Amino acid sequence: MAEKTAAVNNNEALDPAMAHEGPDAGKIISVMSAFLEYTAKHLPDDVLKKLGELRSAETEPLALEIYDLMFRNIEMADKLSRPVCQDTGYMQFWIRCGAEFPLIGELEEILTAALLEATSAAPLRFNVVETFDENNTGTNTGTGAPTFWWDIIPGWDGCEIYTYPAGGGCSLPGHAMVLMPGQGYEEAVLFVMDRMTSYGLNACPPLFVGVGFGASAETAAMNAKRALMRPVGSHNQNELAAGMERLLEDGINAIGFGPQGMGGKYSVLGVNIENTARHPATLGVAVTTGCWCHRRGCIEFDRELNYIAKTHSDFVFR
Ligand code: SF4
Repeated sequence: MAEKTAAVNNNEALDPAMAHEGPDAGKIISVMSAFLEYTAKHLPDDVLKKLGELRSAETEPLALEIYDLMFRNIEMADKLSRPVCQDTGYMQFWIRCGAEFPLIGELEEILTAALLEATSAAPLRFNVVETFDENNTGTNTGTGAPTFWWDIIPGWDGCEIYTYPAGGGCSLPGHAMVLMPGQGYEEAVLFVMDRMTSYGLNACPPLFVGVGFGASAETAAMNAKRALMRPVGSHNQNELAAGMERLLEDGINAIGFGPQGMGGKYSVLGVNIENTARHPATLGVAVTTGCWCHRRGCIEFDRELNYIAKTHSDFVFR
């Protein structure tokens, strides 16, 4: 995924002796904990840029007022070291890990430890409730929580970790269904537009819309979530899919949600589509939405645990 990259190298922070002996799990826990805290308090570079562009293009007085409040919120979160939104999310990790990354076997444990540390350090709101028992675990961890999705990359010794604090309004809600192929892509667009006009406002606009296509409901849903990890302003490599992204963006903008759904010229930060092949007799489609406070993070480690914070150029581990 192409992304603004700012090399932030922690060579100096690493104990040189440790680097020779192999990577230190304690070090990556500390970096990840700091990164989770930082991304709760600072929006990614691409989201900030797009919000600025939408504000510049806006003309509605109320919408302008709301954008100003959003930017004041962002400024105060930085100044006071507070999360940008009170819903600090249910943590989901997408791990693109090289098969030769030295800590591959410990990564889930490492990321869980980092989340526990960030939860008390930031602090992050407790957002994990055991289903049926209905008790809040008070740790942001629980049965199957946080979520881990994996892509294993053969022949690579690095690791790219996407962090996503999914909120109760943004991207935890979602819809998926399987269409008959005869219903065509037109029906898929109708499905997306229907969801946007019904539950789109569950997340605070301007929305970041992820649309997934695949063979089944669950592959489409996973693709919709994966679409939210792509940078704002990026496009699907397939020309037809990229064309649909633009059409959907125009269509959803025409609804005129404006910031916080109070009306305005634009509804979305963007629309991203991700797709995988389908069965001849099925066309799975899914949609999910991020919000204006789209706090996804992406950080890449090499085998020595030097890192690049791909989404947040100002992040530095101290
Ligand atoms: S939708 Fe986003 S901005 Fe709105 S409450 Fe949820 S996390 Fe916060």
